[in-house]
Amino acid sequence: MTANGAWEGPPARAGDPASAIATPALVVALEAMEHNLAAMADWARARGLRLRPHAKMHKCAALARRQIAAGAVGVCVQKPAEAHALAAQGVHDLLLTNEVVDPRKLAGLAALARQVRLGVCVDAALGVERLAEAVRAARSVVDVYVEVDVGQGRCGVPAAAAGALAHRVVSHAPEAPGGPGLRFAGLQAYHGGAQHLRRPEARAQAIAHAASQVRAAVASITAGGIACPLVTGAGSGSFVHEAGSGLWGELQAGSYLFLDADYAQNTPDPGAPDFRHALFVKSQVMSRGAAHAVVDAGHKAHAIDSGLPRVWERPLQFANGGDEHGVLRPGDGAAAADLPALGETVWLVPGHCDPTVNLHTHLVGVRGGLGDGVVEAVWPIDARGALR
Ligand code: PLP
Ligand code: MN
Repeated sequence: MTANGAWEGPPARAGDPASAIATPALVVALEAMEHNLAAMADWARARGLRLRPHAKMHKCAALARRQIAAGAVGVCVQKPAEAHALAAQGVHDLLLTNEVVDPRKLAGLAALARQVRLGVCVDAALGVERLAEAVRAARSVVDVYVEVDVGQGRCGVPAAAAGALAHRVVSHAPEAPGGPGLRFAGLQAYHGGAQHLRRPEARAQAIAHAASQVRAAVASITAGGIACPLVTGAGSGSFVHEAGSGLWGELQAGSYLFLDADYAQNTPDPGAPDFRHALFVKSQVMSRGAAHAVVDAGHKAHAIDSGLPRVWERPLQFANGGDEHGVLRPGDGAAAADLPALGETVWLVPGHCDPTVNLHTHLVGVRGGLGDGVVEAVWPIDARGALR
């Protein structure tokens, strides 16, 4: 919103008081985010592990650059369009943790690999052949990771099939150093189903199974005389267990940077960093009833696939009021007197950070507290909507 109230543009400008941010808006508490950023980077560094945070979460080149400045080797993306959007803003080391089989997308990625270091995952011979063709045409080099299904039942080959696919990748290795071709870079091994198991023991068990699949996959590759340079994977819920296995050399956690309400329900692993909520939806009360208040943030302002938002530091319960409304009622032990007045600000902690970010155009970084702080940065969400 601009000074004269026009709707275009970001919801605030650097230097504005947080109280002036137009609603609904996506706000980052900078102290909390910087704490999470450093805590994860330090944790990985102390264990000699590479950190490659997943940028599908924030979709924001400024934040990817900050993660890399803090020690990350690069970032992950999930879609070619995300890779192009972040590369255009100076992010130079990207791993696409997904399969791509559309020749047009592969041609675009192969061309991108002339400008940035790029990794791509494969789980089928067709994907390898098409990628190799694209890379030959573009005269570039791509790092290729064979994805193994380590328990999620999503993408990936069974462990025993990893060797044959790695062999096919190696058959497209550059003929001369610096020449075009595929560089076999290792295994992609991510267990999404383990991330939100609430108890550490349950996550440990899921990742123990994943580790057994990784071990079998590495064995099937080395049996063919091919070395497996790296195993990459892990998310914010499980990374302690991948790290502890000694098998994974690179961690792909993404949500740790913002910590959503869903992840906050996990019982933390002993020894894990204490991540803090850093992502908020600022909302405003636009209607009041005798026993409820209505804010201007519905599920067009926050994703609800992993549960409704939590109301920050107020004894209120959020109920779904539709795509543009949120209905607040007194929580346990609270009364109507605890409801906010018309026009008041209410801060919400989204249930799931990734799809929430994708709904907005900008992240507004506030320093000094949500109530009294000042807008320090307004970042475009560069890869918003980049789903192809
Ligand atoms: N790696 C892959 C392949 C993913 O799909 C995801 C998230 O879904 C992550 C890493 C990061 O997970 P999180 O945001 O839960 O830390
Ligand atoms: Mn997610």
